[in-house]
Amino acid sequence: MKSADQAPPAVLQDRFGRIIDYVRLSVTDRCDFRCVYCMAEDMTFVPRAQVLTLEEMGRLARVLVDLGVRKIRLTGGEPLVRRDVAQLVHDIGAIPGLGELNMTTNGSRLDRYADELKAAGLDRINISLDSLNPDLFRQLTRTGDLNQVLAGIEAARQAGFRRIKLNSVILRGRNHQEVPALVDFALEKGLDISFIEEMPLGQITEHDRGLEFVSSAQLRDDLSARLNLVPLAEKTGGPSRYWRVPGSDSRIGFISPHSQNFCELCNRVRVTAEGRMLLCLGHEHSVDLRAVLRAHPDDDGPLRDAIIGAMAIKPERHDFSLDQGEQLVRFMNMTGG
Ligand code: SAM
Ligand code: SF4
Repeated sequence: MKSADQAPPAVLQDRFGRIIDYVRLSVTDRCDFRCVYCMAEDMTFVPRAQVLTLEEMGRLARVLVDLGVRKIRLTGGEPLVRRDVAQLVHDIGAIPGLGELNMTTNGSRLDRYADELKAAGLDRINISLDSLNPDLFRQLTRTGDLNQVLAGIEAARQAGFRRIKLNSVILRGRNHQEVPALVDFALEKGLDISFIEEMPLGQITEHDRGLEFVSSAQLRDDLSARLNLVPLAEKTGGPSRYWRVPGSDSRIGFISPHSQNFCELCNRVRVTAEGRMLLCLGHEHSVDLRAVLRAHPDDDGPLRDAIIGAMAIKPERHDFSLDQGEQLVRFMNMTGG
């Protein structure tokens, strides 16, 4: 954890009184996987000139911290496919006043990068893992190699990362039966794990999101039949609600965008790899920060004003529907998960 001693006061507040001090920054929309719930098989990615440079991302991060942002998560796409991402981690990690710098990754390149990321100042890592069965893992990711990801998880542990969290999106009839094994794996390795309900981001034809939906409540009921799940009172500020198994330090979380709305506690915004600030996962309200960054290369004033102004259009809540006709066109790899 970094020192927030030099932290500037929180400036970003929306119309509903929520303080925004957490930003998820997508460093690329590209990925080496094609997870069935996240991408179409055949994806068109953003032309490179439209993606923010690492310098622009660093500058944006400095301005955000100056406006009171305490926590930044680097995500994507797959952040570790972006060249020199460790340099970005180093630059953002050194910003005075930032409390925490984290990353969400699919783990495929972590065996190569874990030590470098730790040395560069990354605080915590979330790793996506939807199955421990190599064939099923390949089906769900379309291109992924389970052993590579398991090696990545081990490398992150060996590098000394603490409170590593696994993220699993659970689809009925696909990896629903994998939940007990995933929990056992997390408990055995001393990792946290969160189960995520699939969100309707991007038009996919691979499966019907409505038919494959399985609620967090059901997963919890299933798990309670074999484990003594004790709810945790502590709030992490995020959308996960956590349980613990007595005798273990691991937390088992459930992120339930459909069955439980967590918007009243929302403290975050997202920035896409193109520099579009998205005010809510479930809406298109956004502000083009790339245009401001590029129009004013030597003056941060307009960028500050644009970010502060964006707070006025942050929606009160998301309202996801399982109806295929009502999906947002934006895929999760664009959104920055
Ligand atoms: N590539 C990295 C990874 O997979 O961890 C980071 C980006 S990914 C978009 C971030 C998270 O979003 C992953 O945990 C992934 O499982 C989740 N995700 C992607 N599409 C989703 C969807 N439609 N509904 C719910 N979660 C989704
Ligand atoms: Fe890539 Fe992550 Fe999306 Fe899977 S969930 S396709 S790993 S960005």
